[in-house]
Amino acid sequence: METNFQSRTKKYFLLFFLPGFLVLATAHAQQFTPTVKQFIAVNVDTLALIHAKVVDGTGGLSKTDQTIIIIKGRIVQLGNASRITAPPSAKIIDCSGKTIIPGMVMMHEHLFYGESLPPNYLGLAMPLSFPRLYLAGGATTIRTTGTVEPQTDLNIRKWIDEGKMVGPDIDVTGPYIEREFLPIPEVHFIKSADEAEEDVSYWIKKGCTSFKVYMDITQDDLKKVVAVAHKNNLKVTGHLCSITYREAATIGIDNLEHGFIPCSDFVTGRKEDVCAFGAVTPSLKKLDVNSAEMKDLMKFLIEKKVAITSTLPVFEPYTGREIIPGDGSAALAPQIKEVVEQGYNAAVGKDSSDAALFKKEMAWEKQFVEMGGRLMAGVDPTGAGRTIPGYADRHVLELLKEAGFTFSQAVKICSLNAAEYLGRDKDIGTIAIGKRADLVLIGGDPEKQIGDVRNTEIVFKNGVGFDSKKIFESVNGKVGLY
Ligand SMILES: [Zn+2]
Repeated sequence: METNFQSRTKKYFLLFFLPGFLVLATAHAQQFTPTVKQFIAVNVDTLALIHAKVVDGTGGLSKTDQTIIIIKGRIVQLGNASRITAPPSAKIIDCSGKTIIPGMVMMHEHLFYGESLPPNYLGLAMPLSFPRLYLAGGATTIRTTGTVEPQTDLNIRKWIDEGKMVGPDIDVTGPYIEREFLPIPEVHFIKSADEAEEDVSYWIKKGCTSFKVYMDITQDDLKKVVAVAHKNNLKVTGHLCSITYREAATIGIDNLEHGFIPCSDFVTGRKEDVCAFGAVTPSLKKLDVNSAEMKDLMKFLIEKKVAITSTLPVFEPYTGREIIPGDGSAALAPQIKEVVEQGYNAAVGKDSSDAALFKKEMAWEKQFVEMGGRLMAGVDPTGAGRTIPGYADRHVLELLKEAGFTFSQAVKICSLNAAEYLGRDKDIGTIAIGKRADLVLIGGDPEKQIGDVRNTEIVFKNGVGFDSKKIFESVNGKVGLY
């Protein structure tokens, strides 16, 4: 049982292990256009990363003074530097004083940027800046988790695969499945459960590899979406409101977005299949952080194997926090930056109850993991426009640390947990022999000083090293434009 997304990568994987140099060469040879080449710092057949601290993505203890040997994009040797000799043909990179983590697998990313223009909210496609930013920030695989321009996302995925654009591997999620509710003009609104089913079937044919239901659908809509997606071995996630977490888990949803913030299970007197929009947040603000009902719900979700995606950056409080968390303000177009700053200044000092809920959300995510739940993470570049891809992806590690996870656990949430969910953990998600060399080389030691995650130096995808700083700089001032 595998998804289109998996079979695409699996074909590549199998090819690689067939005998014969020619096959190896064909499988590895990655052609890049000049647009992409300008950002490549390292592209050799044999590479040795020596004397690095390695946090391998399994959640286990970090290891110091490690050597990683990469041949044709795959990790072939890994261990203590004193015991591994680099092949004579290898290019050697001394990683003393640096840390290597797996390429991040981020699960709530969009290729559009949200702009609030009351009474409307716009999702503006960012086809040129966003793919670059994700990769620059260490995300080598992303799920788009809802799109306003599916054809754009599908083309971007294709061009990245073909070496014509800089960016991560993409699990392209189809258009939002939603009935008319929020005034977002880019969203296609369905009128019936049959239409939901037709849409999903159509976008599977076009190449979408996962689906997301949104805030105002019915349980019948969800049943149809889950049935057709699962029949095609694809997964369904949801940012819910009209349906409770318990109802969705019962129907068979695979994943729930934004942690527990959209959870309407604790709204009193709610009507079935109706989004009680204004009542959800207050119900959670009232709920005790150690509520037995919440623990009971978590237990149920875990039994039903429903994963949770944490999107802490989009909920980041204002007071005492950066305007653009992760220090990404250089990326914003000046005109957009001005609007975001105005919004920030208007909210500072007035967000104490939201800040308290944010802390509670962190605690719930920690409890969910401690109970055995699968937590993944993403940034969600929407909300008040403060969440900028790449910068926010690195910042997720800081926020998970703040939530009480160790650095190792935070890395696992952003790599292995998601790779397993995508069914791609044989290939990506940890630093291990045989896996793809998707790695992030970080200056410093984020395990000792979490802020060092911002020093991404080289992001390796398939063993090809991209210059993080150069990519970030190439789109300075572009977010909000394209
Ligand atoms: Zn989203």
